[in-house]
Amino acid sequence: MKRLSFDIGKPVEGHPESCVTIGGDSPILVQTMCNTATQDVEASVAQCRAMYKAGAQIIRLTTQGPKEVEALKLIKERLHAEGIFTPLVADVHFSADVALAVARVADKVRINPGNFAPVHEDACRKFRELIGVCRECGTVLRIGLNHGSLGERITTLYGNTPLAMKEAVMEWLRMCIEEDFYNVVVSLKASNTRVMVDAYRLLNEAMQAEFGCVFPFHLGVTEAGNGDQGRIKSAVGISALLKEGIGDTIRVSLTENPVNEIEAGRQIIAALEDEEGPIEAASWNEFIIRASVMYGPALLDCRIDDCDLSGCSVDGKALGAEEAEAFKDTLLQACRRRFTKPEYIACPGCGRTLYNLEDTFNEVKRRTAHLAGVKIAVMGCIVNGPGEMADADYGYVGEGRGHVTLYRGKTPVMRTIPQEEAIDRLLELIESDLKQDKK
Ligand code: SF4
Repeated sequence: MKRLSFDIGKPVEGHPESCVTIGGDSPILVQTMCNTATQDVEASVAQCRAMYKAGAQIIRLTTQGPKEVEALKLIKERLHAEGIFTPLVADVHFSADVALAVARVADKVRINPGNFAPVHEDACRKFRELIGVCRECGTVLRIGLNHGSLGERITTLYGNTPLAMKEAVMEWLRMCIEEDFYNVVVSLKASNTRVMVDAYRLLNEAMQAEFGCVFPFHLGVTEAGNGDQGRIKSAVGISALLKEGIGDTIRVSLTENPVNEIEAGRQIIAALEDEEGPIEAASWNEFIIRASVMYGPALLDCRIDDCDLSGCSVDGKALGAEEAEAFKDTLLQACRRRFTKPEYIACPGCGRTLYNLEDTFNEVKRRTAHLAGVKIAVMGCIVNGPGEMADADYGYVGEGRGHVTLYRGKTPVMRTIPQEEAIDRLLELIESDLKQDKK
Protein backbone atom coordinates (compact mmCIF):
# COMPACT_ATOMS: atom_id res chain seq x y z
CA MET A 1 0.00 0.00 0.00
CA LYS A 2 1.38 3.36 -1.06
CA ARG A 3 1.72 6.15 1.54
CA LEU A 4 1.84 9.44 -0.32
CA SER A 5 4.72 11.79 0.39
CA PHE A 6 5.58 15.34 -0.72
CA ASP A 7 7.26 18.53 0.45
CA ILE A 8 5.59 21.36 2.34
CA GLY A 9 7.23 24.72 1.67
CA LYS A 10 8.22 26.90 -1.22
CA PRO A 11 11.92 26.26 -1.88
CA VAL A 12 14.22 29.17 -1.01
CA GLU A 13 17.60 28.95 -2.74
CA GLY A 14 20.38 27.98 -0.32
CA HIS A 15 17.87 27.01 2.39
CA PRO A 16 16.83 23.36 2.08
CA GLU A 17 15.08 23.70 5.46
CA SER A 18 12.44 25.85 3.71
CA CYS A 19 10.77 22.55 2.71
CA VAL A 20 9.88 19.65 4.97
CA THR A 21 8.85 16.25 3.68
CA ILE A 22 5.61 14.79 4.97
CA GLY A 23 4.27 11.27 4.56
CA GLY A 24 5.80 8.05 3.30
CA ASP A 25 8.62 6.94 5.58
CA SER A 26 9.55 10.50 6.64
CA PRO A 27 9.83 11.26 10.34
CA ILE A 28 6.71 12.55 12.09
CA LEU A 29 6.61 16.35 12.04
CA VAL A 30 5.68 18.39 15.11
CA GLN A 31 3.65 21.51 14.54
CA THR A 32 1.85 24.23 16.45
CA MET A 33 -0.32 27.30 15.87
CA CYS A 34 0.07 30.94 16.87
CA ASN A 35 -2.52 32.42 19.22
CA THR A 36 -1.54 35.99 18.36
CA ALA A 37 -3.70 38.26 16.21
CA THR A 38 -2.15 37.65 12.78
CA GLN A 39 -2.50 41.36 11.99
CA ASP A 40 -0.16 42.05 14.90
CA VAL A 41 2.93 41.31 12.83
CA GLU A 42 5.41 42.07 15.64
CA ALA A 43 3.72 39.71 18.11
CA SER A 44 3.23 37.00 15.50
CA VAL A 45 6.88 37.13 14.36
CA ALA A 46 8.00 36.97 18.02
CA GLN A 47 5.82 33.93 18.66
CA CYS A 48 6.95 32.18 15.46
CA ARG A 49 10.55 32.84 16.50
CA ALA A 50 9.95 31.24 19.91
CA MET A 51 8.22 28.27 18.24
CA TYR A 52 11.10 27.86 15.80
CA LYS A 53 13.60 27.88 18.67
CA ALA A 54 11.51 25.25 20.47
CA GLY A 55 11.70 23.03 17.36
CA ALA A 56 8.40 23.64 15.53
CA GLN A 57 8.60 22.15 12.05
CA ILE A 58 5.38 23.72 10.75
CA ILE A 59 3.61 26.83 12.12
CA ARG A 60 -0.03 27.76 11.49
CA LEU A 61 -1.65 31.19 11.74
CA THR A 62 -5.28 32.25 11.65
CA THR A 63 -6.15 33.93 8.37
CA GLN A 64 -9.71 35.17 8.56
CA GLY A 65 -9.65 37.98 5.97
CA PRO A 66 -7.65 39.98 3.41
CA LYS A 67 -5.82 41.96 6.13
CA GLU A 68 -4.49 38.71 7.62
CA VAL A 69 -3.40 37.56 4.15
CA GLU A 70 -1.29 40.74 3.85
CA ALA A 71 -0.01 40.30 7.41
CA LEU A 72 1.00 36.71 6.68
CA LYS A 73 3.03 37.93 3.72
CA LEU A 74 4.88 40.40 5.99
CA ILE A 75 5.39 37.78 8.72
CA LYS A 76 6.94 35.42 6.21
CA GLU A 77 9.26 38.13 4.88
CA ARG A 78 10.31 39.12 8.38
CA LEU A 79 11.01 35.52 9.37
CA HIS A 80 13.01 34.88 6.21
CA ALA A 81 15.06 38.01 6.92
CA GLU A 82 15.90 36.46 10.31
CA GLY A 83 16.89 33.16 8.69
CA ILE A 84 13.74 31.32 9.80
CA PHE A 85 12.21 29.31 6.95
CA THR A 86 9.76 27.12 8.84
CA PRO A 87 6.77 26.46 6.52
CA LEU A 88 3.75 28.61 7.39
CA VAL A 89 0.18 27.38 7.18
CA ALA A 90 -2.83 29.64 6.78
CA ASP A 91 -5.90 28.53 8.74
CA VAL A 92 -9.02 29.57 6.84
CA HIS A 93 -12.67 29.11 7.71
CA PHE A 94 -15.84 30.12 5.88
CA SER A 95 -14.21 32.10 3.09
CA ALA A 96 -13.16 30.43 -0.12
CA ASP A 97 -11.95 33.80 -1.44
CA VAL A 98 -9.54 34.19 1.47
CA ALA A 99 -8.29 30.63 0.87
CA LEU A 100 -7.75 31.44 -2.82
CA ALA A 101 -5.79 34.58 -1.95
CA VAL A 102 -3.66 33.08 0.80
CA ALA A 103 -2.82 29.97 -1.25
CA ARG A 104 -0.50 32.30 -3.20
CA VAL A 105 1.33 33.27 0.00
CA ALA A 106 1.30 30.41 2.50
CA ASP A 107 3.11 27.09 2.16
CA LYS A 108 -0.02 25.20 3.10
CA VAL A 109 -3.67 26.16 3.53
CA ARG A 110 -5.93 24.45 6.04
CA ILE A 111 -9.57 24.51 5.11
CA ASN A 112 -12.79 22.81 6.03
CA PRO A 113 -14.29 22.84 2.53
CA GLY A 114 -17.72 22.00 3.94
CA ASN A 115 -17.99 25.54 5.28
CA PHE A 116 -16.79 27.23 2.07
CA ALA A 117 -20.31 28.06 0.92
CA PRO A 118 -23.85 27.37 2.16
CA VAL A 119 -24.70 25.47 -1.05
CA HIS A 120 -22.64 22.28 -1.54
CA GLU A 121 -22.27 22.74 -5.32
CA ASP A 122 -20.79 26.22 -4.78
CA ALA A 123 -18.35 24.82 -2.18
CA CYS A 124 -17.28 22.12 -4.68
CA ARG A 125 -16.70 24.72 -7.42
CA LYS A 126 -14.59 26.89 -5.10
CA PHE A 127 -12.68 23.84 -3.88
CA ARG A 128 -11.69 22.89 -7.43
CA GLU A 129 -10.65 26.51 -8.05
CA LEU A 130 -8.49 26.37 -4.90
CA ILE A 131 -6.83 23.17 -6.10
CA GLY A 132 -5.88 25.03 -9.29
CA VAL A 133 -4.21 27.84 -7.33
CA CYS A 134 -2.41 25.38 -5.03
CA ARG A 135 -1.08 23.49 -8.04
CA GLU A 136 0.09 26.73 -9.68
CA CYS A 137 1.80 28.01 -6.50
CA GLY A 138 3.19 24.77 -5.04
CA THR A 139 0.93 25.06 -2.00
CA VAL A 140 -0.18 22.08 0.04
CA LEU A 141 -3.81 21.71 1.18
CA ARG A 142 -5.04 20.34 4.47
CA ILE A 143 -8.61 19.14 4.50
CA GLY A 144 -9.26 19.63 8.21
CA LEU A 145 -12.62 18.39 9.43
CA ASN A 146 -13.57 18.43 13.09
CA HIS A 147 -16.24 16.37 14.81
CA GLY A 148 -18.09 19.49 15.93
CA SER A 149 -18.20 21.15 12.52
CA LEU A 150 -19.71 18.58 10.18
CA GLY A 151 -22.23 20.06 7.77
CA GLU A 152 -25.94 19.26 7.96
CA ARG A 153 -25.84 17.49 4.59
CA ILE A 154 -23.45 14.85 5.97
CA THR A 155 -24.93 14.54 9.48
CA THR A 156 -28.39 14.00 7.97
CA LEU A 157 -27.00 10.99 6.11
CA TYR A 158 -24.63 9.53 8.71
CA GLY A 159 -25.32 11.24 12.05
CA ASN A 160 -22.64 13.07 14.02
CA THR A 161 -20.35 10.03 13.95
CA PRO A 162 -16.83 8.92 13.00
CA LEU A 163 -18.40 7.40 9.88
CA ALA A 164 -19.78 10.81 8.90
CA MET A 165 -16.34 12.38 9.40
CA LYS A 166 -14.74 9.75 7.18
CA GLU A 167 -17.41 10.10 4.47
CA ALA A 168 -17.06 13.89 4.44
CA VAL A 169 -13.29 13.74 3.88
CA MET A 170 -13.59 11.01 1.24
CA GLU A 171 -15.91 13.25 -0.84
CA TRP A 172 -13.28 16.00 -0.99
CA LEU A 173 -10.43 13.56 -1.60
CA ARG A 174 -12.29 12.07 -4.58
CA MET A 175 -12.38 15.56 -6.07
CA CYS A 176 -8.62 15.95 -5.48
CA ILE A 177 -7.99 12.68 -7.30
CA GLU A 178 -10.29 13.70 -10.18
CA GLU A 179 -8.20 16.88 -10.44
CA ASP A 180 -4.99 14.80 -10.25
CA PHE A 181 -3.89 16.79 -7.18
CA TYR A 182 -2.21 14.76 -4.44
CA ASN A 183 -0.47 17.33 -2.20
CA VAL A 184 -3.16 16.99 0.43
CA VAL A 185 -2.98 16.30 4.16
CA VAL A 186 -6.09 15.18 6.04
CA SER A 187 -7.27 15.53 9.63
CA LEU A 188 -10.37 14.38 11.50
CA LYS A 189 -10.06 15.82 14.97
CA ALA A 190 -12.43 15.40 17.90
CA SER A 191 -12.12 16.21 21.58
CA ASN A 192 -13.47 12.76 22.40
CA THR A 193 -10.53 10.35 21.98
CA ARG A 194 -12.82 7.44 21.07
CA VAL A 195 -14.44 9.39 18.23
CA MET A 196 -11.10 10.76 17.05
CA VAL A 197 -9.31 7.41 16.90
CA ASP A 198 -12.27 5.66 15.24
CA ALA A 199 -12.58 8.37 12.59
CA TYR A 200 -8.91 8.20 11.59
CA ARG A 201 -8.96 4.39 11.51
CA LEU A 202 -12.03 4.40 9.27
CA LEU A 203 -10.48 6.93 6.92
CA ASN A 204 -7.22 5.01 6.74
CA GLU A 205 -9.09 1.83 5.75
CA ALA A 206 -11.33 3.64 3.28
CA MET A 207 -8.42 5.34 1.48
CA GLN A 208 -6.59 2.02 1.13
CA ALA A 209 -9.68 0.23 -0.15
CA GLU A 210 -10.83 2.89 -2.60
CA PHE A 211 -7.66 4.73 -3.69
CA GLY A 212 -4.95 2.13 -3.05
CA CYS A 213 -2.94 4.90 -1.41
CA VAL A 214 -3.06 6.89 1.83
CA PHE A 215 -2.79 10.67 2.03
CA PRO A 216 -0.65 11.97 4.93
CA PHE A 217 -2.46 12.36 8.24
CA HIS A 218 -2.31 15.37 10.57
CA LEU A 219 -3.24 14.03 14.02
CA GLY A 220 -4.65 15.89 16.98
CA VAL A 221 -7.19 15.76 19.77
CA THR A 222 -8.98 19.04 19.41
CA GLU A 223 -10.09 21.25 22.33
CA ALA A 224 -8.08 19.00 24.66
CA GLY A 225 -7.76 21.70 27.34
CA ASN A 226 -4.58 22.41 29.27
CA GLY A 227 -2.29 21.05 31.96
CA ASP A 228 -2.46 17.33 32.70
CA GLN A 229 -5.80 16.78 30.96
CA GLY A 230 -4.65 18.38 27.70
CA ARG A 231 -1.42 16.41 27.61
CA ILE A 232 -2.94 13.08 28.65
CA LYS A 233 -5.89 13.26 26.22
CA SER A 234 -3.59 14.25 23.37
CA ALA A 235 -1.05 11.53 24.19
CA VAL A 236 -3.78 8.86 24.29
CA GLY A 237 -5.45 9.78 20.99
CA ILE A 238 -2.32 10.59 19.03
CA SER A 239 -0.24 7.63 20.22
CA ALA A 240 -3.08 5.13 19.67
CA LEU A 241 -2.83 5.97 15.96
CA LEU A 242 0.93 6.42 15.71
CA LYS A 243 1.40 2.95 17.20
CA GLU A 244 -0.60 1.61 14.23
CA GLY A 245 1.47 3.53 11.70
CA ILE A 246 -1.24 6.16 11.17
CA GLY A 247 0.02 9.75 11.36
CA ASP A 248 2.60 11.96 9.68
CA THR A 249 2.39 15.23 11.58
CA ILE A 250 0.99 15.97 15.03
CA ARG A 251 -0.28 18.95 16.93
CA VAL A 252 -0.91 18.81 20.67
CA SER A 253 -3.59 21.51 21.12
CA LEU A 254 -3.15 23.10 24.53
CA THR A 255 -4.96 26.08 26.05
CA GLU A 256 -1.56 27.41 27.08
CA ASN A 257 1.39 29.19 25.52
CA PRO A 258 1.53 27.32 22.17
CA VAL A 259 5.30 26.96 22.48
CA ASN A 260 4.55 24.29 25.12
CA GLU A 261 2.85 22.22 22.42
CA ILE A 262 6.20 21.47 20.79
CA GLU A 263 7.73 19.83 23.84
CA ALA A 264 4.57 17.80 24.44
CA GLY A 265 4.55 16.63 20.81
CA ARG A 266 8.18 15.61 20.93
CA GLN A 267 7.60 13.76 24.19
CA ILE A 268 4.76 11.76 22.61
CA ILE A 269 6.96 10.74 19.69
CA ALA A 270 9.88 9.85 21.99
CA ALA A 271 7.58 7.79 24.24
CA LEU A 272 6.72 5.48 21.33
CA GLU A 273 10.18 3.94 21.88
CA ASP A 274 9.46 3.02 25.54
CA GLU A 275 9.52 -0.63 26.50
CA GLU A 276 7.06 -1.92 29.14
CA GLY A 277 8.21 -1.30 32.67
CA PRO A 278 8.60 1.33 35.35
CA ILE A 279 8.98 4.82 33.90
CA GLU A 280 11.83 6.97 35.13
CA ALA A 281 10.93 10.47 34.00
CA ALA A 282 12.81 13.73 34.44
CA SER A 283 9.64 15.82 34.94
CA TRP A 284 5.93 15.42 35.72
CA ASN A 285 4.93 16.39 32.18
CA GLU A 286 7.30 13.80 30.74
CA PHE A 287 5.93 11.17 33.12
CA ILE A 288 2.25 11.73 32.31
CA ILE A 289 2.92 11.67 28.57
CA ARG A 290 5.05 8.53 28.69
CA ALA A 291 2.57 6.70 30.94
CA SER A 292 -0.34 7.81 28.72
CA VAL A 293 1.44 6.54 25.60
CA MET A 294 2.34 3.27 27.35
CA TYR A 295 -1.15 2.47 28.70
CA GLY A 296 -3.65 4.85 27.05
CA PRO A 297 -4.17 3.10 23.71
CA ALA A 298 -4.82 -0.29 25.36
CA LEU A 299 -7.19 1.31 27.90
CA LEU A 300 -9.03 3.15 25.14
CA ASP A 301 -9.54 -0.08 23.18
CA CYS A 302 -10.51 -1.99 26.37
CA ARG A 303 -7.58 -4.40 26.02
CA ILE A 304 -6.63 -3.61 29.65
CA ASP A 305 -8.63 -2.17 32.57
CA ASP A 306 -5.89 -0.65 34.72
CA CYS A 307 -2.24 0.30 34.63
CA ASP A 308 0.62 -0.63 36.92
CA LEU A 309 2.62 2.43 37.99
CA SER A 310 4.67 0.70 40.67
CA GLY A 311 8.37 1.50 40.54
CA CYS A 312 7.85 4.71 38.52
CA SER A 313 9.79 7.82 39.45
CA VAL A 314 9.80 11.50 38.58
CA ASP A 315 13.01 13.51 38.86
CA GLY A 316 14.62 10.74 40.88
CA LYS A 317 11.75 10.51 43.44
CA ALA A 318 9.39 7.55 43.68
CA LEU A 319 5.91 8.33 42.38
CA GLY A 320 3.61 8.99 45.36
CA ALA A 321 0.32 7.08 45.81
CA GLU A 322 -1.76 10.28 45.56
CA GLU A 323 -0.01 11.42 42.40
CA ALA A 324 -0.48 7.98 40.87
CA GLU A 325 -4.23 7.98 41.68
CA ALA A 326 -4.71 11.53 40.36
CA PHE A 327 -2.96 10.57 37.12
CA LYS A 328 -5.00 7.37 36.75
CA ASP A 329 -8.27 9.28 37.22
CA THR A 330 -7.36 11.67 34.41
CA LEU A 331 -6.05 8.88 32.19
CA LEU A 332 -9.14 6.69 32.62
CA GLN A 333 -11.37 9.66 31.82
CA ALA A 334 -9.26 10.57 28.76
CA CYS A 335 -9.70 6.93 27.62
CA ARG A 336 -13.48 7.16 28.17
CA ARG A 337 -13.34 4.35 30.75
CA ARG A 338 -14.28 6.05 34.06
CA PHE A 339 -15.70 9.53 34.61
CA THR A 340 -14.81 11.07 37.98
CA LYS A 341 -14.50 14.76 37.09
CA PRO A 342 -16.13 17.31 34.82
CA GLU A 343 -15.17 16.87 31.18
CA TYR A 344 -13.60 20.05 29.86
CA ILE A 345 -13.46 21.04 26.22
CA ALA A 346 -11.35 24.14 25.59
CA CYS A 347 -9.94 25.41 22.34
CA PRO A 348 -6.28 26.44 22.28
CA GLY A 349 -7.17 29.97 21.17
CA CYS A 350 -5.85 31.65 18.04
CA GLY A 351 -5.87 35.02 16.32
CA ARG A 352 -9.65 35.11 16.67
CA THR A 353 -9.56 34.96 20.48
CA LEU A 354 -10.32 38.35 22.03
CA TYR A 355 -9.96 37.58 25.74
CA ASN A 356 -7.56 35.88 28.12
CA LEU A 357 -8.65 32.34 27.37
CA GLU A 358 -6.11 30.52 29.53
CA ASP A 359 -6.88 32.44 32.74
CA THR A 360 -10.62 32.20 32.12
CA PHE A 361 -10.43 28.48 31.49
CA ASN A 362 -8.44 27.93 34.68
CA GLU A 363 -11.02 29.92 36.65
CA VAL A 364 -13.91 27.94 35.09
CA LYS A 365 -12.12 24.72 36.05
CA ARG A 366 -11.57 25.94 39.61
CA ARG A 367 -15.22 26.95 40.07
CA THR A 368 -16.74 23.85 38.44
CA ALA A 369 -14.42 21.14 39.78
CA HIS A 370 -17.30 19.62 41.81
CA LEU A 371 -19.51 18.98 38.75
CA ALA A 372 -18.37 15.44 37.90
CA GLY A 373 -19.76 14.15 34.62
CA VAL A 374 -20.79 17.57 33.26
CA LYS A 375 -19.19 18.52 29.93
CA ILE A 376 -18.18 22.19 29.91
CA ALA A 377 -16.67 24.00 26.93
CA VAL A 378 -14.67 27.23 27.03
CA MET A 379 -14.16 28.57 23.53
CA GLY A 380 -12.21 31.53 22.22
CA CYS A 381 -14.56 32.91 19.59
CA ILE A 382 -18.18 33.02 18.55
CA VAL A 383 -17.32 32.30 14.89
CA ASN A 384 -16.06 28.75 15.31
CA GLY A 385 -16.54 28.11 19.02
CA PRO A 386 -20.21 27.04 19.05
CA GLY A 387 -19.72 24.64 16.13
CA GLU A 388 -16.54 23.16 17.57
CA MET A 389 -17.92 22.48 21.06
CA ALA A 390 -19.10 19.10 19.80
CA ASP A 391 -21.22 17.45 22.47
CA ALA A 392 -20.61 19.83 25.40
CA ASP A 393 -23.49 20.23 27.87
CA TYR A 394 -22.62 23.89 28.46
CA GLY A 395 -20.49 26.40 26.63
CA TYR A 396 -18.75 29.63 27.59
CA VAL A 397 -18.02 31.36 24.29
CA GLY A 398 -16.13 34.66 23.94
CA GLU A 399 -17.96 37.22 21.81
CA GLY A 400 -15.27 39.90 21.85
CA ARG A 401 -15.25 43.35 23.45
CA GLY A 402 -15.48 41.85 26.95
CA HIS A 403 -18.68 39.90 26.40
CA VAL A 404 -19.62 36.24 26.51
CA THR A 405 -22.48 34.06 25.29
CA LEU A 406 -23.45 31.02 27.37
CA TYR A 407 -24.80 27.90 25.70
CA ARG A 408 -26.84 24.96 26.88
CA GLY A 409 -25.82 22.29 24.37
CA LYS A 410 -25.86 24.01 20.99
CA THR A 411 -28.42 26.64 22.06
CA PRO A 412 -27.36 30.13 23.16
CA VAL A 413 -29.27 30.85 26.37
CA MET A 414 -27.62 34.05 27.66
CA ARG A 415 -26.09 36.48 25.20
CA THR A 416 -23.73 39.44 25.58
CA ILE A 417 -23.01 38.96 29.27
CA PRO A 418 -20.16 41.12 30.63
CA GLN A 419 -17.16 38.88 31.08
CA GLU A 420 -16.84 39.71 34.80
CA GLU A 421 -20.25 38.12 35.45
CA ALA A 422 -20.08 35.27 33.00
CA ILE A 423 -18.63 32.51 35.22
CA ASP A 424 -21.22 33.27 37.95
CA ARG A 425 -24.02 33.06 35.36
CA LEU A 426 -22.57 29.79 33.99
CA LEU A 427 -22.59 28.22 37.45
CA GLU A 428 -26.14 29.43 38.12
CA LEU A 429 -27.27 27.95 34.82
CA ILE A 430 -25.68 24.54 35.46
CA GLU A 431 -26.80 24.33 39.08
CA SER A 432 -30.37 25.33 38.29
CA ASP A 433 -30.49 22.63 35.56
CA LEU A 434 -29.08 20.04 37.97
CA LYS A 435 -31.77 20.96 40.55
CA GLN A 436 -34.48 20.63 37.90
CA ASP A 437 -33.10 17.20 36.95
CA LYS A 438 -33.35 16.05 40.56
CA LYS A 439 -37.02 17.11 40.89
S1 SF4 B 1 -12.76 28.24 18.50
FE1 SF4 B 1 -10.79 28.87 19.44
S2 SF4 B 1 -9.17 27.97 18.16
FE2 SF4 B 1 -11.11 27.83 17.01
S3 SF4 B 1 -11.13 29.68 15.72
FE3 SF4 B 1 -12.23 30.24 17.62
S4 SF4 B 1 -10.66 31.05 19.01
FE4 SF4 B 1 -9.57 30.01 17.34
